[in-house]
Amino acid sequence: MTITLPTSRLMEHGTWLEIRLDHLRYNLKAVEKASGRKNEVLAVVKANAYGHGLLETAKTLDGQVRYLGVSSLLEALDLKEHGIATPVFLFGRLTPAELPIALAEEITLSVSSYEEAEELASISQSLKRLTKIHIKVDTGMGRLGIPVLQASGTIEKIHELPSLVPEGIYTHFPSAESDQPFTEEQLQRFAFLLEDLGKKGIHFVYRHAANSAGSLKIRTPVLNLIRPGLMLYGLYSDESLRKDVQVKPILSLKSRIILLKKLTPGQSVGYGRTYIAKTHTLIATLPVGYSHGYPYSAFQKAQVLYKGKRYPLAGRISMDYLSFDLGPDSAKIGDEVTLIGPDGKEEIRTEEVAGWAGTIPYEIVTRLTSKLPRYYRS
Ligand SMILES: *Cc1c(COP(=O)(O)O)cnc(C)c1O
Repeated sequence: MTITLPTSRLMEHGTWLEIRLDHLRYNLKAVEKASGRKNEVLAVVKANAYGHGLLETAKTLDGQVRYLGVSSLLEALDLKEHGIATPVFLFGRLTPAELPIALAEEITLSVSSYEEAEELASISQSLKRLTKIHIKVDTGMGRLGIPVLQASGTIEKIHELPSLVPEGIYTHFPSAESDQPFTEEQLQRFAFLLEDLGKKGIHFVYRHAANSAGSLKIRTPVLNLIRPGLMLYGLYSDESLRKDVQVKPILSLKSRIILLKKLTPGQSVGYGRTYIAKTHTLIATLPVGYSHGYPYSAFQKAQVLYKGKRYPLAGRISMDYLSFDLGPDSAKIGDEVTLIGPDGKEEIRTEEVAGWAGTIPYEIVTRLTSKLPRYYRS
């Protein structure tokens, strides 16, 4: 569920997300261009579009990409029920009970083994349907996918199964941003497999491997589709990628001061009394905490922006509140504070928050709960 309200109602909320859909469009173009060759795009919108809101994100991308990629049946059904016309691709494996529903909705499915393909073929046949599949090959991720050395024979067998349309073949890079030689090696294994299958007369309409980082690092006619996620949302898995493409962050996390309290030296703030005032200071409290997805582990390093200036947090982050230290500055109840995003000349990026929390930007955005109202700007 995503709460979408007109911006005129923004004043009603203590904490909210602002999402720039114009930046999403910009980022799609930027990533497409930076991937060099003419690629089709499977835009990854799993995990509530990395916290940005599945439906609004999908509506913006609808008709602009070849596929929308999700990782659960519920997400796929949500897209279908809301009239998204772009075909849906589902990563991962469904349960036997989910499969007939997925087939009825014509979702393109990923297949990682002969047994999976067999199960799918038998259900498709009994429902008198043709199911599009993309076969996943493991060239070094060590997770899903047919091990590349056995892949040729297995894929040949899958091709003989009835009611399946093997439209695509793909693999996944575990370290496209940091290990170019390993990534190239994976690509070589994949290319070799495709060549081998080609000799047997087996060809695929779509051949893909690259996530966001891979889209920038790999250029080869072997592949003709990219699968960007993080970069569509204006985020980087590694700072070194900023030189390859400039994408714009989409999301801001904002809150409003609900309490101001003057502290005298020796007084403390929050659980565990980790913050103790050294001087007379002003503490502001915001109605946002780890239950909204703001990371608890960031409290010792985290900062917020108020009127374009950075202030440190005071004490631990609570479930629904956090406090920051204004020092000698003053503030007003109801004033806006930015936890992620730009304010004046300053900006707090998701990557910075991830650094404070000792995690990756993916985790920060995907944990922003659906209870947060999301305001969209086109
Ligand atoms: C999530 C996912 C992606 C997108 O990765 P980003 O690093 O967010 O671009 C691509 N491919 C697969 C198989 C995925 O699971």
